[in-house]
Amino acid sequence: MKELKLKISHTEAHTDLLGPGDRFVVWVHGCCFDCEGCLALNTRFGAYQEVTVHDLAERIKNSGCDGITVSGGEPFLQAEALGELVRNVQAERDIGVIIYSGFTLEELRDRGEFTGLLSMTDILIDGRYEKNLDDGRAYIGSSNQRLFYLTDRYKKSGEIYYAAEKRRAKIKFSADRVTLIGVPSAGVLKIWNEIKAKNGGAANDF
Ligand code: SF4
Repeated sequence: MKELKLKISHTEAHTDLLGPGDRFVVWVHGCCFDCEGCLALNTRFGAYQEVTVHDLAERIKNSGCDGITVSGGEPFLQAEALGELVRNVQAERDIGVIIYSGFTLEELRDRGEFTGLLSMTDILIDGRYEKNLDDGRAYIGSSNQRLFYLTDRYKKSGEIYYAAEKRRAKIKFSADRVTLIGVPSAGVLKIWNEIKAKNGGAANDF
């Protein structure tokens, strides 16, 4: 059987900035959309790693996190490998799945190759980012994007979590990169853009 691989930009363990609970976030590499004001240019044009599903699943299982959030980039472009990742982790750990996708739920349901991963998703935040519709809502980029509870797993915790009035995000400095985690407020975005401008531009990992 072929070993499935994923192209990923980066990962972050133990954050509550992209969904309720203690989450392991995977930012996948590559996107088929081109939203004006995209905050994730590095996941489209920056460096990436290829990892086997097995290795990433082991990292998630060993992290002790109780949920996975997949963002990007566009997760459903790697639906087969992500589905296998979730299956692998859930074989040993009861772990929830949140996906941020540029596709709408209707578009995902129309595409047979996406339904496997969609059926494993507890929360879907859907739709392209629309800069002109960025209304500052916590955890969601623009008002056209919708949050769907596709299972009951996060219904209770999500009601409290997603009712937050303010956005929360952090800029993390580590030895080899600077990472924006979460959906930023206008203030954090300004700082992020200044950091990017000083470090080689929007499309680069830095
Ligand atoms: S879907 Fe997301 S990653 Fe893709 S272009 Fe739009 S904002 Fe950027």
